[in-house]
Amino acid sequence: MTSFNDFGLAEPILRALAEEKYVTPTPIQAQTVPLALEGRDVIGIAQTGTGKTASFALPILNHLIAKRLRPAQKACRVLVLSPTRELSGQIADSFRTYGRHIRPLAIELAIGGVPINRQARAVARGVEVLVATPGRLLDLVNQRAITLNQVEVLVLDEADRMLDMGFIHDIKRVVAMLPKQRQTLFFSATMPQEITRLADQMLNNPARVAVTPQSTTVERIAQRVIHTDKAAKNGLLAEILKTETIDRVLVFTRTKHGADKVVRTLEKSGLAAEAIHGNKSQNQRERVLAAFRSGSLRILIATDIAARGIDVEGVSHVVNFDLPNIPESYVHRIGRTARAGAEGIAISFCDHEERTYLRDIERLIRMSIPSTDRRTGDRSRPEPAEEHHAAHRQNGRPHKRGNQQQSRGKGGNGHHQGRPAQGERQGQRQGQGHGPNRNGHHAGGRPQAPRSEAAAQSEPNGIGNVTFMQRSGEPRRNAGHRAPR
Ligand code: AMP
Repeated sequence: MTSFNDFGLAEPILRALAEEKYVTPTPIQAQTVPLALEGRDVIGIAQTGTGKTASFALPILNHLIAKRLRPAQKACRVLVLSPTRELSGQIADSFRTYGRHIRPLAIELAIGGVPINRQARAVARGVEVLVATPGRLLDLVNQRAITLNQVEVLVLDEADRMLDMGFIHDIKRVVAMLPKQRQTLFFSATMPQEITRLADQMLNNPARVAVTPQSTTVERIAQRVIHTDKAAKNGLLAEILKTETIDRVLVFTRTKHGADKVVRTLEKSGLAAEAIHGNKSQNQRERVLAAFRSGSLRILIATDIAARGIDVEGVSHVVNFDLPNIPESYVHRIGRTARAGAEGIAISFCDHEERTYLRDIERLIRMSIPSTDRRTGDRSRPEPAEEHHAAHRQNGRPHKRGNQQQSRGKGGNGHHQGRPAQGERQGQRQGQGHGPNRNGHHAGGRPQAPRSEAAAQSEPNGIGNVTFMQRSGEPRRNAGHRAPR
């Protein structure tokens, strides 16, 4: 499928796509749209950033054009369930964008954080499309503000995240209220067992499509890890933000409190930043996101849940201030950069306590992430890389960690407490040559992502010497999280 015209979509949809300058369907769209247009149930294994929203929105809009029907009062014809307010808002925006030439077309949101009565009024006359988070939807159902017995198409988006967020029972309750005769489109970035079971219960003879297995998406992103002491993270972050050529950066912390703290410490360093997390009001979140989108805010600090579904183009960097304890979250986080084919840079801080998280992440993405060492103090314990390296050897696959060796060779060992490590000074020296020049441009250009070259290439940057290594091409036996066929 090389063009949207090949799908046989109705003219008003094609016109909107042309206005959006969408020329070529993405792989998930090329596979999902024809199946969904046939009326099939579909399980799509795809992450945010692959174009999956259009892959369900386009056939749904086509269905609404083909079968014109006034929605009954307090009913919706299409129900989209999504885990977060932000993602719901973006899905509704996508429907509005692709459906802008279709009339009548009522698209409403049922999400927390805004007065429920306003939402009840909005759906009172019936809507074509309702995009909802499960909790608020059930509140509306309980208030008898909406009935779900007229739903023709159900979309469940980011099912794995729904599971993580504890929505599984709410989803089952919602599904029990829907007509048995319906079309269901089910999307998840990963397919853990519980999600497979849920899909089996919800879908009828589904077609399966899987795109961009996680490791190929992360391949497009230049990743690096900086081993650091916990207490040094704030200073390191400020240094990176000042030395890297950054268009927009998303900084992830594990907790809401941590996000606020980072904002405060950056402000002390003269860097304007804002945080987005669950304690912020819907208005605050929207204001901050709009500023980030427009470019007036360059540094956004977020927690995993708040960042879910943030769809902002031009995020050049993702910084993991804290490594996530769920390895899949790492993939979701760094996927905020490298959207729609663009490349991005992901930098992760790893303190002593986070070394097991790093190991789990590297296992998931089947890559050894290049690292630099900025720790000070005692180094008598084995490096995580050494443990990791040993594990790889046990699996029969030697896994060269050129950079580790390199940074150690340059003084990674034997640092004295309280003195900057040699590797650090080395990094600073390099930073002078390759940091931003007076115009804010990188003299050395942006480091490139590792591709499948066999040869490692050494690329200096403002933080330290980084060597990108080839990823292992051999499939792992324990790759249960991988997309099924
Ligand atoms: P999604 O995975 O649905 O969040 O989409 C990621 C981004 O890609 C969004 O900003 C979309 O507007 C954009 N996008 C989706 N499909 C296409 C396409 N076929 N051509 C260009 N951009 C697209």
